Amino acid sequence: MEKICVAVRVRPPVSLETSGGVFWKVEDNRVSLHRQHDTPVSGTSYAFDHVFEETCSNARVYELLTKDIIHAAVEGFNGTVFAYGQTSSGKTFTMNGSADNPGVISLGVKDIFDAIQMMSNREFLVRVSYMEIYNEEINDLLAVENQKLQIHESLEHGVFVAGLREEIVNSAEQVLKLIESGEVNRHFGETNMNVRSSRSHTIFRMVIESKGKDNDSSSTDAIRVSVLNLVDLAGSERIAKTGADGVRLKEGKHINKSLMALGNVINKLSDGVKQRGHIPYRDSKLTRILQPALGGNAKTSIICTIAPEEDHIEETKGTLQFASRAKRITNCVQVNEILTDAALLKRQKLEIEELRRKLQGSHAGVLEQEILKLRNDMLKYELEREKLQLELEEERRSRKERDQCVREQQMRLQNHNSLVTSSGGNGSHSEEQNSKRQSFCEECSDSNGICQGGAFRTPCSKAAPNAFVVKRSNYSRLPEYSPLPDTFSNVADEDTWLKMNKGYIADLDSLQMTPATKVQSFPLNDGTPGCSNENYRDVQKLKRQLENVTEEKNEFQRKYSEEKILNARLTGEISELRQEVLVIREIPRRLYESVVSSKDFYEDLLCSMKSFAADGESSTAKKLVSISEIGSSLFSTLETNFLMAMDGDKSFSNNDSLVREQCKEEESTCWKEKLSSELNTIKEKYHGLEKDLDLNNKFLETSKEMYDSLEREFRLLQEERDSLLNKVSESSQTLTMVTDQKENVLKDYNTEVEKKKNLEEEIKQFSAAFACRQKSLVSFHSDLKSKIEKLRAQNPVSVPKSRG
Ligand code: ADP
Ligand code: MG
Repeated sequence: MEKICVAVRVRPPVSLETSGGVFWKVEDNRVSLHRQHDTPVSGTSYAFDHVFEETCSNARVYELLTKDIIHAAVEGFNGTVFAYGQTSSGKTFTMNGSADNPGVISLGVKDIFDAIQMMSNREFLVRVSYMEIYNEEINDLLAVENQKLQIHESLEHGVFVAGLREEIVNSAEQVLKLIESGEVNRHFGETNMNVRSSRSHTIFRMVIESKGKDNDSSSTDAIRVSVLNLVDLAGSERIAKTGADGVRLKEGKHINKSLMALGNVINKLSDGVKQRGHIPYRDSKLTRILQPALGGNAKTSIICTIAPEEDHIEETKGTLQFASRAKRITNCVQVNEILTDAALLKRQKLEIEELRRKLQGSHAGVLEQEILKLRNDMLKYELEREKLQLELEEERRSRKERDQCVREQQMRLQNHNSLVTSSGGNGSHSEEQNSKRQSFCEECSDSNGICQGGAFRTPCSKAAPNAFVVKRSNYSRLPEYSPLPDTFSNVADEDTWLKMNKGYIADLDSLQMTPATKVQSFPLNDGTPGCSNENYRDVQKLKRQLENVTEEKNEFQRKYSEEKILNARLTGEISELRQEVLVIREIPRRLYESVVSSKDFYEDLLCSMKSFAADGESSTAKKLVSISEIGSSLFSTLETNFLMAMDGDKSFSNNDSLVREQCKEEESTCWKEKLSSELNTIKEKYHGLEKDLDLNNKFLETSKEMYDSLEREFRLLQEERDSLLNKVSESSQTLTMVTDQKENVLKDYNTEVEKKKNLEEEIKQFSAAFACRQKSLVSFHSDLKSKIEKLRAQNPVSVPKSRG
């Protein structure tokens, strides 16, 4: 609640002549009537917010009484400043001023635009209108064609004058020009008291709309609308003093009537809130238009101007009493904010965001931890995968070394064999030799099961699982491409061994490396729902992350199965190689045995041949002896070689290959176990991850549901608001209707009262006339009586005596 600010301003006297009677004395904020010898007249001292003496300038009046209201109007408060007082007391001078002493209106207009310039965070729209109330009719001073305008009231605009021109302005100069042009249309007239007497009340109105600029984050989109009224009232006047007649008299009557209505409103308002009854705002257009300024939502200042002359004492007293009553009025002032649909939506959206933030605050920590955990797991998994890859590389390298070792052994064997074939290649092949070899092969087949279908096969040609031999030559299985030698002597060429080896060479390059998987890292902060302004987007983001993780998991599972297959292949290969190594290790021993048996056979043969050449002297016998010597030396060389080979092989096997083989075997078993256990761990971790992700999904679903329900609530609230607004507008319409009806009834009532008064007057007149007539009749009657008496006395009539 805010009190109306009231000030009194004393006009300088028109003439310096003093009547010598009484005068108005100004002391601080008090004005009192004093006698010539400076004694105060009792009951004539009045205190106000400000009292301005004669010498005071308009600028000071503006500074102390109006400036705050002007600035508040820019901030969104309604404001009204009006000048009240008898005619020629200086109202127009105070409001409009002169060239060298600008009035409140021009000072205020300049100040408004300065204040607008200072408020860089808001954008403004200023509209001005200028109207007068002349003979209780509202005329537009900015558009002469707009006459007799009507007052309306609506929920949105409050009390307003329909059809009034409003000019959008953006500078003080523009406004002052408009005021100037409006002044031309104002009604002035000459009276005894003022050569240029205002015959109408003028209301200069500024509507200031403002909105926070878009780039201002603190703005709420609410539009502030304030109305500033600067009112110059026409002065109350005594007809006798102004000497008004004709038009001036009519004007004066209207002026007085509306000022009386203003006085009544002030009287009622000054009674205090509790005692207040009906406030008769509708008694005049002036009070109706100033309704918000009087006891409503506006900061209001009243400048009461008084004339110091002694002959205006009664009017001045009236003005000061009016001012004293006005001082008691309190207004309820507030910023006028209009919430547009967009502003309301924005405000509600902010509230929902806030609620959502609070709601999610409880889950944010958990989700963040979950994400961190997932991220850690992923990193661990990445490391494990790299470790596995390294181990796989190691395994491949060791396998290559093993292959190399096997190849070396094969080469060594090849060397032994070539040694054997080269030593036996000189002799011719007899049927017996072939049969001997046949029996040897059969023996081999029985003991090892390697030779099949009567054909001699090297251990290299043993069927191996296709799964392992990636590029095994097909021709190795065909008879025409068989690397098997028909005769033992044909085996000793290098090409054949090469062809035989071909069947076992695995193209390791064709074994594809597992492609490195890109592990997508989680974003550091974006994933946390609390940081996000849009929950739905967060949900989508987390969903995408979930999909990525699932894809990755599938990829790892695929790799895991690939690794498994590879492991199985490796195990198969190792066992095959082991068998092959065993077979290869057997070869020198078998060769040695065959050499021993061949030697026996050869010796038998020589013995039988020697028996044919018994003399020992013949050339045949000599030849036989030399053959026998060569043979024995050959066989002994072979035996030595094979024994050496066997020993070397044994020592090699024992000291190197076997040890390495065993080591590798153990190593690979160890690796296998390690790999499978690690893979099991990874699998378990994946299951854990899957569970975590499921949990996250559930959280996200819940928050999404919450979001949906909030949205639903918001929509319901909006609908409720709309229906309430509809109801309000309906009831306001009904209220307007009822008010109009009430007005009509009141008018009728007033007419009836008027009629009753007239009738009463007539009755009074009639009864007076009647009484008068009665009186005259009575006097006439008495006159007549006296006359009759007189006549009787003059002419006494003898009443004949009755006979008898
Ligand atoms: P009102 O509008 O109250 O009828 P005006 O403002 O027209 O009266 O004033 C009447 C005359 O008195 C004008 O000539 C005006 O210049 C003069 N006047 C009024 N107040 C002052 C003042 N404070 N200082 C100087 N002259 C004044
Ligand atoms: Mg005036």
